Amino acid sequence: MFELTFDQEARALYCYFTEITEGDDAQELEVPGVYLLDAAGQLVGVRVELGEKKRRKLLEHAQRHEGVALDEASNRLTLTFAASPVASEEELPYGAVIDLDSKNRALGLEIQSMIEFDIEARLEALAPLLVEFDEEFEADDGAEADADVDSEAVITAAQPVDQRPRASGVSATLSDESVRAGFVALIGKPNVGKSTLLNAYLGQKVSIVSPKPQTTRVPVRGILNRPDAQIVFVDTPGIHQPRHKLGSFMVDMARRAIPNADVLCFVVDISEPPSRQDREIAEMVLKARQPHILILNKVDATREADLHLRQYRHLGDWQCEVAVSAKNRLGLETLLEEITARLPEGPRLYPEDQLSDMSERELVSEMIREKVMLNTEQEIPHSVAVEVEEWEDREKAIYIRANISVEKESQKGIIIGAGGVMLKKIGAAARYEIERSLGQHVFLDLWVKVRENWRQKPSELRWLGYDVKFFKG
Ligand code: GDP
Ligand code: MG
Repeated sequence: MFELTFDQEARALYCYFTEITEGDDAQELEVPGVYLLDAAGQLVGVRVELGEKKRRKLLEHAQRHEGVALDEASNRLTLTFAASPVASEEELPYGAVIDLDSKNRALGLEIQSMIEFDIEARLEALAPLLVEFDEEFEADDGAEADADVDSEAVITAAQPVDQRPRASGVSATLSDESVRAGFVALIGKPNVGKSTLLNAYLGQKVSIVSPKPQTTRVPVRGILNRPDAQIVFVDTPGIHQPRHKLGSFMVDMARRAIPNADVLCFVVDISEPPSRQDREIAEMVLKARQPHILILNKVDATREADLHLRQYRHLGDWQCEVAVSAKNRLGLETLLEEITARLPEGPRLYPEDQLSDMSERELVSEMIREKVMLNTEQEIPHSVAVEVEEWEDREKAIYIRANISVEKESQKGIIIGAGGVMLKKIGAAARYEIERSLGQHVFLDLWVKVRENWRQKPSELRWLGYDVKFFKG
């Protein structure tokens, strides 16, 4: 039988095949899987998808343990904790992490759960089997969780063994200390998940995400501080074929991000084969002299990962390739390590408490714009811009007046909605997020205005706060 441990604080379950001593685990592998539950909803096991056939080798010795079974046909590994029959399955929210030693043997598995799953209640029947969680590891976990952002802790919290070099303690002032610090450009066509990735790292909305392509208009810098590194992300707008002038403006911005970055990350959607756009962007990225990493996002959303990986790999000579799911926070730690290793050594570039160099006003307008786009679906394309016109600290709340600019009367009608219902909905959703981000009450006063064809006029672009210096009209 393997050893089963539960870390309450991290809501993580560890199934270990071997006795672990510090420094054993050399690398980790994340795989999707399901919890196996009995009729009473109690956890009786887990089943993970190994994916590639060659991964079976990693688990050869683990299979000697009772309760470990590999189904060769489906390439799935099942770990059984209890005898009661399986009545239902539930998807693992973050996948399972297999810890491997330096000889590529699986040491064990780590499974993290969401609060909603209430894993503690589902472990009641197993409680007598659980091995006590080692206190020492908990102390280590605490230090790491404090030093890193929350989202990050999701991946690495309470790893029973961890040999990565780390600054001792949680020092907040490292200003003149030499760390790895630099700019990282996330480059890729619209909708591949660049903003989602950035948000997953920073645990807070610094860049807007929406199901529509091309929602990121200005390069947003998200700053991730780690004990040993400072990573400044430049979330470029997607590179695409310009259709109108705002489009070409965005392409320019993305191109401009390249010379300023220390590491270039080409982000693709692995659930789809490479398109012509991907090829063009790859070519542009590969011409640059900086290290280039291929990020294959949305691994959760495809069964064709292997096929598509090969196709993306052939687009160029990538220094390294990392498959991730920004949405499910899989593979993010590995990616971060690959990025950090390629950054120059030097002092931090920004104070450690800074998350973004985007101003609060810009952040607020982006939040409002996101709500407009999410609520109006296809009807309002990218012809909407938001500008904060007034910002005043009043007694009970911050008063913010913002203009939503559209191109046509009909679009204005859609945004306002019958009896103003839509605008109220947009306002309420935006206000909620703005309040959360500013930590204060907000009075949000939204106005909708029509500005004919503003996207074609450089002067109007300036009016909207975009820098038109690089605009080649
Ligand atoms: P960007 O245009 O490259 O910045 O893309 P976004 O971050 O705005 O994401 C575009 C869409 O892809 C959104 O609907 C995201 O929820 C979705 N998305 C992003 N990452 C993932 C992922 O890892 N898996 C899946 N299934 N969807 C994702
Ligand atoms: Mg984006």
